[in-house]
Amino acid sequence: MSELLTHSIIDAGRWIDAQGWCPATGGNFSARIDSSTAWVTASGRHKGALTPDDLIKVDFDGQVIDSALTPSAETLLHTALYALDDNIGAVLHTHSVTSTVLSRMVAADYLTLSGYEMQKSLSGNHTHNEQIGIRILENTQDMRALAQQLTSTWARTPLQWGFLVRGHGLYAWGRDMKEARRHIEGLEFLFACEREMMLLKK
Ligand SMILES: [Zn+2]
Repeated sequence: MSELLTHSIIDAGRWIDAQGWCPATGGNFSARIDSSTAWVTASGRHKGALTPDDLIKVDFDGQVIDSALTPSAETLLHTALYALDDNIGAVLHTHSVTSTVLSRMVAADYLTLSGYEMQKSLSGNHTHNEQIGIRILENTQDMRALAQQLTSTWARTPLQWGFLVRGHGLYAWGRDMKEARRHIEGLEFLFACEREMMLLKK
């Protein structure tokens, strides 16, 4: 089971790298093991060429279990998500050009999407007519502060599918790795459409 989980992260890394969404060792990925631990990617590894040795077991406080490796600085965001929602089984964080640019083009706390057929790639959406809000958190190098922003936002309104960090990238999740991959692919597609629409309107 654990081997399946670690391979699901390695496969996701290869796929995400092929999309160009995690350049220069950016991004990080994780998969829930049980109610208190998860596998996360080690810091500084190229995400397109991960091996089982690049994965670290952590608890939901971000503390490393049985490893000399350093986890990604953003591990706390992953573990905060697992602690916030028992249904989250996998989290993918990318640094794509589209997420980085679009999150800087929108000044508001939420990016609003509507009218796109591809909204149906996000669980629970059955029509293009719904309005979908994707939260944009402010970027900081203080990961505890960013995790706190996420937790206090969630306490007001639980988030679905993913959130953006301004000028930084996208976090997306799912019940399992398969759903997390669908969500990140769907969101990246929707963001690319929205960026193009905004540029055309200028
Ligand atoms: Zn990042």
